[in-house]
This record gives sequence, structure tokens and C-alpha cells, in this order.
Amino acid sequence: MGSEGIPSANGKTALRVKALESVLLEKGLIETAAIDELIDMFENRIGPWNGAKVVARAWADPDYKKRLLDDGTAAIAEMGFEVIQGEEMVVVENTPEVHNVIVCTLCSCFPWAVMGLPPVWYKSAPYRARAASDPRGVLKEFGTEIGDDVEVRVWDSNAELRYMVLPERPAATDGLDEAALARLVTRDSMIGVTKLAAI
Ligand code: FE
Repeated sequence: MGSEGIPSANGKTALRVKALESVLLEKGLIETAAIDELIDMFENRIGPWNGAKVVARAWADPDYKKRLLDDGTAAIAEMGFEVIQGEEMVVVENTPEVHNVIVCTLCSCFPWAVMGLPPVWYKSAPYRARAASDPRGVLKEFGTEIGDDVEVRVWDSNAELRYMVLPERPAATDGLDEAALARLVTRDSMIGVTKLAAI
């Protein structure tokens, strides 16, 4: 199975969190509910925020977008987000013609560097199997309707190669700066299971 070992996203932070968790649990200072809260924070709030900043910059800066699509690993590192050695990041762009979805059919490989921890459903057997065999059906379950004229591409991650979706920029966001744009980006849109709604 995958060699997921150490999360590459904020690797040092993740390790510190783990170490802290062990110590605090051992000393009976915190309960698992508090741990769950920490995980939720890492999984849902801190992690995807890196990816959101990458996406926002790509939307705002065409040169950066080109670099990102050409060499995701380098362009993400350029933003100061550490990609663990030996992992390549590939960024795939959603357009009106192509909709991309990422999965790890084998286990749960995920772009830690930009998205933190994978959601539970991403690691589930049904998602892993069906994202590959019936991506449109899976997307529908996420409330995402993809027109028949749009090509759906599924990218199977592995330990060495991790994908991230560059979602389409929502309409009517011309006046927003990068920070405001980043706040629109969701984790699920960077996995490709949802699209970003117009604001
Ligand atoms: Fe995996």
C-alpha cells in the first residue's frame, strides 16, 4: 500500500502536532474530543489554505499560472510550501471543456503540501473505486453536474506523484484581490469533486 508516512504539508508542524498529542494524552491533559478538534483544524482549515493561496495566485497572475501548470512542484515551492523530497506535484486545470478529479485508487495518497490531511471519504473504498469507474456518478453525489460535452479526467495519485485541481475561477470575482480570492477556494474544489459557485 502507499507510503504515506510523514505528511509533506507543513511536515514539521504535523510532526509537532503528533508529538504534542502523544504527550498530552499520556499525561491525561486532553481528551480525544480535543484531538478531533485539532485534526479538524489541520484537515479543514489550515491544510487547504495553502492550496487556496496557490489557486488564488494562479487566478490573479497568468505567469504564475503557467509556471504552476508547467511544473507544479517548483511553483508550489515558490510560494514557500514544502513538497517532500521525492514527491512530484502536478496541477491540472479545470476549464469549460475539461473537468478533473483526483483519487488514489490504491490507498490514500493526497497532496499534503497544499491540502493538509485527506478527508475521510477520500480514503474510503467506495470513493477510490467509483471515482475511477464512474466519476460522473460520484460527482453527482457531491452535487456536481458535469455536462455531457465536458470531458471528465480522473487522475490516480501515488506516493511519488500527487495531483491538485486548479478550479475554475468563479464569475464576478474580477475586483477581488488574491487574499479575497483565496477565501473562495474550498478543499473539495481542489480535489475536483465540486465546482466553485459564483459569488
Ligand atoms: Fe495512496
